[in-house]
Amino acid sequence: MNKKVRLRFAPSPTGFLHIGGLRTALFAYIIAKSQAGKIILRIEDTDQAREVEGAADKLVEILSWAGINFDESPQLGGSFGPYIQTQRLDIYKQHAQTLLDSGKAYRCFCSTERLQALREEQQKNKQAPRYDNHCRGLSLEESNQKAEAGESFVIRQKMPLEGVVEAVDELRGKIVFEAKNLDDHVLIKSDGIPTYQFASVVDDHLMEISHVTRGEEWIPSFPKNILLYQAFSWEAPKFIHLPLILNKEGGKLSKRQNDVAVEDYREQGYLPKALLNFCLLLGWHPKDDKEILDLKEVLEKFKIKDMQVSPAVFDRDKLDFFNGYYLRQLNEDEFAKEALPFLSDLIEIQADKNFKIKNTQKQISYEQVKKILNLEQSRIKKLSELPELVHNFFIEDLDYDKDLLIWKSLSFAEIKDNLLELKALLETVDNDNWNKGHLENLIITYLKDKEAKLGDYLWPFRVALTGRKNSPGPFESAEALGREESLKRTDKALTKL
Ligand code: GLU
Repeated sequence: MNKKVRLRFAPSPTGFLHIGGLRTALFAYIIAKSQAGKIILRIEDTDQAREVEGAADKLVEILSWAGINFDESPQLGGSFGPYIQTQRLDIYKQHAQTLLDSGKAYRCFCSTERLQALREEQQKNKQAPRYDNHCRGLSLEESNQKAEAGESFVIRQKMPLEGVVEAVDELRGKIVFEAKNLDDHVLIKSDGIPTYQFASVVDDHLMEISHVTRGEEWIPSFPKNILLYQAFSWEAPKFIHLPLILNKEGGKLSKRQNDVAVEDYREQGYLPKALLNFCLLLGWHPKDDKEILDLKEVLEKFKIKDMQVSPAVFDRDKLDFFNGYYLRQLNEDEFAKEALPFLSDLIEIQADKNFKIKNTQKQISYEQVKKILNLEQSRIKKLSELPELVHNFFIEDLDYDKDLLIWKSLSFAEIKDNLLELKALLETVDNDNWNKGHLENLIITYLKDKEAKLGDYLWPFRVALTGRKNSPGPFESAEALGREESLKRTDKALTKL
């Protein structure tokens, strides 16, 4: 049977998008779009204690920023809705009833106290915690009577008591589970809310999901899911469990939000392309080992069978490398567009794309802003490094320690003479010729002609312009600052000497 390709990303709205979640969404997206299929967003909000308000909208927003857009979702709707699980409670109830009627599930009336005592006993005996099937033998009649009398109950799935359960993962092949290790787990809790295990199977079936992508940590649930499909006589979707993501030391990935939240990566100035490229390699490798991957190209050659099962390593340095690479691919305008939100403490945008230096009246043109940003484009790994690096270019009255002007053993008097000489030369250059090439040519020729040591002049000049020990070269800095500001800064240095 040739089923339509439909994948879903099914996050729980618990506050932020985990980088592992982005990877899951990305693979769902790639598998769908490489086969002209659809991708669906379903919000799995049945664990209401963990729910964070507004989290579902935030998820959509950050996924869309990252470049993952859905065909059906709570916001967009679609013919398989509602797409929020707490709006589907009647559907789960009906389906649970079907299983009760067919004897594939049963009501369990055990009290919390009994279950607690059972767990303690098992702990004491060093046994794995599991339900002891106490209510499994209740007749349907008895069970109906108790329910009608208002006794509180959960609904449990009847698991096979012996034998094995076989489940096929698209990457790992057949996985065999011993039935005796499977618990009669809960499908519907006493408040009528389904568990993940139940709701996700019912929804995947009703939403006609063809492939499920989820993390390897869900493999223990796999037999339960397969048994549910069998209990309903439904065809199961194809399952693709994505490899674990480990840190560089081979341990578990940190759970600290600021290490793993996609929102935080955005705030630090990582580009979506870099994050997607990085996530893609956490589960797939092209045959030619190319690491810089274009999503469009990937969609053309992607094959599920090329995905990997061995754990993926979360290597921050690699992410930085990708980000640096993608930052350098941007043209001046694109780079400025990405960078400007990071400079809001330094400059303010005004009408017609002109800028004003914050807390001053000083104007600065968009062209000049771009030149300043361009100085650092090739050096940074993430956009959040920019404010500190370009800060001095946007200051009206630059100040720094006079000692910074010292080059080797030059005295202040010598430095002063050198700067005066340069200043006289600079003043001969008009606005139209005030560019890196011309300035460099003029000054280097001049210094070479007089057989001067370049550093004796260029070091103090660069410090005068940038106020920093480490900064871009003097000629490009001069061009970025403009004639007037460069001369002003040279004068300022001279007053220090
Ligand atoms: N709601 C589950 C989670 O957020 C999804 C697991 C799945 O994709 O089936 O972890």
